[in-house]
Amino acid sequence: MKEKTAIYPGTFDPITRGHIDIIQRAAKIFHRLIVAVAHNPGKEPLFSVEERVDMIRQSLSPLGLKNVEVETFSSLLIAYAKSKGATAIVRGLRAVSDFEYEFQMALMNRKLEDSVETLFLMPSEQYTYLSSRIVKEIAYYGGDIECLVTPPVARMLREKLGARNRE
Ligand code: ADP
Repeated sequence: MKEKTAIYPGTFDPITRGHIDIIQRAAKIFHRLIVAVAHNPGKEPLFSVEERVDMIRQSLSPLGLKNVEVETFSSLLIAYAKSKGATAIVRGLRAVSDFEYEFQMALMNRKLEDSVETLFLMPSEQYTYLSSRIVKEIAYYGGDIECLVTPPVARMLREKLGARNRE
């Protein structure tokens, strides 16, 4: 059977336990999963792309997921997926609010490249309210984020936001 590769693209600013939930589910379905970190300067990420990759690697390493890789990309997603020999793009769906944007993107990607399917996975319900933006907001106001992100991410958030607050 031909090896099936999927791409899980996102900004991951920073990676949350919701993202990790999706990664674990996708890693069970595909032979190889590439977590692809988009540079996304338009979203003005809090963390550099190198920091985001580093936090993903540190968060995933205790899980021992041997078929998961982490990379960055700055080209058109579908071109990147093709260049990796991927047959699927994985996205997480939390609530109805995600649906419209995700639906539009999936159909546009299909129009650009019919051979790559978009697959939506639902996280465990305890993560359906979780987003990188909410984590950053809670961390900014000094709230408890330990149950929302891994310890290395919580540390990086404290460092980054502490440095910003001192500016
Ligand atoms: P993007 O800028 O591409 O939306 P994100 O890092 O915000 O990047 O999200 C990447 C993917 O992960 C998206 O499909 C998003 O819906 C999904 N995602 C984000 N948070 C969660 C979560 N808590 N549970 C499940 N999926 C999530």
